[in-house]
Amino acid sequence: MLKDTFNRPLRDLRISVTDRCNFRCTYCMPAEIFGEGYKFLPREQLLTFEEIERLVRIIVRLGAVKLRLTGGEPLVRQDIEQLVAMLAEVEGVEDMALTTNAFFLPQKAQLLRDAGLQRVTVSLDSLDDAVFQRMNGSRSSVQKVLEGIAAADAVGLGPVKINTVVQRGVNDHMLVDLARYCKDHGYIVRFIEYMDVGTMNGWRMDDVVPADEIVARIDAELPLEPIGKNYHGEVARRYRFRDGGGEIGLITSVTKPFCGSCTRMRLSPEGQIFTCLFAAQGTDLREPLRSGASDDDIEQIIRHTWGARIDRYSEERSELTEPRDKKVEMYHIGG
Ligand code: SAM
Ligand code: SF4
Ligand code: SF4
Repeated sequence: MLKDTFNRPLRDLRISVTDRCNFRCTYCMPAEIFGEGYKFLPREQLLTFEEIERLVRIIVRLGAVKLRLTGGEPLVRQDIEQLVAMLAEVEGVEDMALTTNAFFLPQKAQLLRDAGLQRVTVSLDSLDDAVFQRMNGSRSSVQKVLEGIAAADAVGLGPVKINTVVQRGVNDHMLVDLARYCKDHGYIVRFIEYMDVGTMNGWRMDDVVPADEIVARIDAELPLEPIGKNYHGEVARRYRFRDGGGEIGLITSVTKPFCGSCTRMRLSPEGQIFTCLFAAQGTDLREPLRSGASDDDIEQIIRHTWGARIDRYSEERSELTEPRDKKVEMYHIGG
């Protein structure tokens, strides 16, 4: 099995299928930077579905068993369900999920399910419309997201997980409501510590609400108890409601980093692989793909890249006096 310098295997592949998005979340693609004139990747620079499938076959041979489609917003990539169908055929893939802002889920849920998608994760930062709109650049409404979640649930893309990025003073006053709503509807909410991904969101440590604080606040109203991981490399810390009605997760990337068990590789829309969410640069696979390299040649590049991997940014963050000034952007590799 392929392992990196810290003995971490390659188990998960996150595929960002587009750098475009119909939302402008302030922590990811702030509207003042990603305006009308922003130059996204031209179509010919994106990997085709056939190219993605070919890379997935190679990466699965090297040990990856879990796939997640992301973006940008994966549902703005035309005919995304065709890619899902192609990847569902790849032998060795045990799990395929997709992370979305839910805007197009009412139209797409059934198509995605029929194509072989197993689960969706939906991003929803607040149940309060004003707060939600402030965070996503006023591109949608809570009601619209809830309709998308219900559509996914109805076609069997559940249990739906909900991602909530927590920012102090922005949406942290409503976390208990969100936890209660998800508990009542059988959804699993995962609170994500706001991260210093990319270089454009003006992140400050003061904006982060530590996971322990989130748990304490919810526990005070809806008593919780910790539960174990579902599998090695699972990043969420899990808690269940003591009354037996479901669970929540915490993604503690800032206060309790989990680099030691990080088994994720990320593929960008234009065909670069990244071995860390905070990497400054990736390794290009598109050029070899388009200039006749064999599967074995490409496998060698991936082996070499993963084998040389030394990333542990979140563990190092606390030791850095200055944040890294060059990091890939979140909308580019999809979290
Ligand atoms: N557009 C899709 C969505 O929002 O679900 C998929 C891509 S988005 C980049 C993937 C996840 O990253 C979302 O759940 C989003 O909330 C999260 N995210 C984006 N920027 C973040 C940040 N600075 N800190 C923590 N999570 C972030
Ligand atoms: Fe778009 Fe998702 Fe980034 Fe929000 S978090 S801007 S929905 S890619
Ligand atoms: Fe993995 Fe990099 Fe995040 Fe650490 S900082 S958990 S190595 S992606």
